[in-house]
Amino acid sequence: MTVDDDPGVSRAVARDLRHRYGQEHRIVRAESGEAALEALREMKLRGEQVAVLLADYRMPQMNGIEFLEQAMDLFPGARRALLTAYADTNAAIDAINVVDVDNYLLKPWDPPEEKLYPAIDALLDAWRASDFRPVPETKVIGHRWSARSSEVREFLARNQVPYRWYTTDEPDGQRLARAACAKVGRPVPDVTEDTELALPMVITPDGEVLVEPTDSELAVKVGLATVPAAGFYDLVVIGGGPAGLGAALYGASEGLRTVLVERLATGGQAGQSSRIENYLGFPDGVSGSQLTGRARLQAAKFGAEVLTACEVVGLEVSGSARTVHFADGTAVGGHTVILATGVNYRQLPAPGITDLTGRGVYYGSALTEASACAGSDVYIVGGANSAGQAAVYLAKHARSVSILVRGTSLERSMSYYLIQQIADIKNITVRTCTEVTAARGDGHLEGLTLRDNSTGATEDVAAQYLFVFIGAAPLTSWLDGVLTRDARGFIPSGPDLAAGGKRPDGWPLDRAPYHLETSVPGVFVAGDVRSESAKRVASAVGEGAMAVMLVHRYLEKL
Ligand SMILES: Cc1cc2nc3c(=O)[nH]c(=O)nc-3n(C[C@H](O)[C@H](O)[C@H](O)COP(=O)(O)OP(=O)(O)OC[C@H]3O[C@@H](n4cnc5c(N)ncnc54)[C@H](O)[C@@H]3O)c2cc1C
Repeated sequence: MTVDDDPGVSRAVARDLRHRYGQEHRIVRAESGEAALEALREMKLRGEQVAVLLADYRMPQMNGIEFLEQAMDLFPGARRALLTAYADTNAAIDAINVVDVDNYLLKPWDPPEEKLYPAIDALLDAWRASDFRPVPETKVIGHRWSARSSEVREFLARNQVPYRWYTTDEPDGQRLARAACAKVGRPVPDVTEDTELALPMVITPDGEVLVEPTDSELAVKVGLATVPAAGFYDLVVIGGGPAGLGAALYGASEGLRTVLVERLATGGQAGQSSRIENYLGFPDGVSGSQLTGRARLQAAKFGAEVLTACEVVGLEVSGSARTVHFADGTAVGGHTVILATGVNYRQLPAPGITDLTGRGVYYGSALTEASACAGSDVYIVGGANSAGQAAVYLAKHARSVSILVRGTSLERSMSYYLIQQIADIKNITVRTCTEVTAARGDGHLEGLTLRDNSTGATEDVAAQYLFVFIGAAPLTSWLDGVLTRDARGFIPSGPDLAAGGKRPDGWPLDRAPYHLETSVPGVFVAGDVRSESAKRVASAVGEGAMAVMLVHRYLEKL
């Protein structure tokens, strides 16, 4: 949609947009903010999607910023740009803060190939990669309390595969489940909430029915690469979080044949963050999946191969070759390896928790389950930023959110800005000195026992949802005997290995390990899995980039 009060300009913008985008998109033009809002309201009622809003800044009655502000209420997912005269550039820059404008374009925009289309292309790409893209065709049929259904949704969401979710306790889901069973030749059940159905079932866009698929089956069917195209690379990056994506991006863009291998979905922990507010360059914050989704596209654009649903279970060192073994028994070789496997949430050690995981108890996966929490009382365990962000996000859906913290306050573990946000949200309560000591439920979480550690008193509460964000641990046991790990499983590198100027045991070279190099030459480490790392998105990305610089240095001397 384009809005400009000058009819000539309005027609010219619409003409140029139609010329380039008319095949795929309907171009709607309006000559005032009010008229544009009326058209948007109609589109909303008709269930249509709006991809991009392009508004002139200087309009009588309602200026472009005011229009975009109101348009956001109707179509929050539409990407937004202001069209301005050179003299208004400062106002346009201010608008970035007010209405989160994605871009501003200067008039005149001739030639559009240089001054208009690249900007609109970027806005369309961002919109397509967002949660607001057109209704997807992959369908997941499952049950609200089926742990595997929850995992499958999480897998698809984190890999940015659009899908529609149907539950078998709703008529639509039941209809689809019957059709899917008929298609795969299973007896068509009387689908009710209690029926023992093999769930989840996934229906691909071309109508294939997958019954209880594994992650790798699913990955193949939805078009994600799971096997490497070559047998040997300059650089094998293990882990697709910010550190791994950073490494793959810089490796590929600097000419290294690079493959990134990810166990589950690219994005890592950052991909689970509802809003990262402290990453450089995003004054209004950015959702983790948007940030890492773009990073993945960028890495792929430079030629990095990205494999998903591909777990690494071993590293073998033989002369100058490093062989990375996968869980399915296959392997890939490389001159160098960057370990970027991050950390995982620790399990909550209370009775009942393990059985109810995925059935009301979730580790970190607040985003996919959020809408299901509508009207429920939700509990969150943890006092760090991840727990705080989840609380802010879930409070929009849940009736109440209780943050349970073992310590006496949030101050030591959570950023000040988040503590302030939480204090301003009425349906969030912080319970300090509190631990979960038991969870119970028949098939799904129904209640928790909480202990107040300052008094020793216990209390049983009804609860349908518990999200756990407690201290994280690296999963590096597969590196046992291959390289040095510290007592907690983190991987020391460079100066941390060479205490008092000594070389690490078995170190074969006459130089000391480079800064991010592990106790095995040519194997580097970046991000949260590194001993003494900062546990921040920015530092993980930075270390990924820096590790590539050291890879070059290593390869030069190979
Ligand atoms: C909910 C949440 C909110 C957060 N918010 C912020 C924030 O606002 N600001 C901030 O700076 N930081 C934030 N953090 C911390 C930040 O996300 C991490 O510091 C960052 O993601 C670390 O990046 P990484 O690449 O080192 O590791 P990770 O993000 O942990 O990624 C590691 C990846 O490696 C994969 N992997 C592990 N083992 C294997 C294997 N054997 N084979 C293949 N793949 C494997 C994992 O599946 C994972 O995708 C947040 C974290 C969480 C969980």
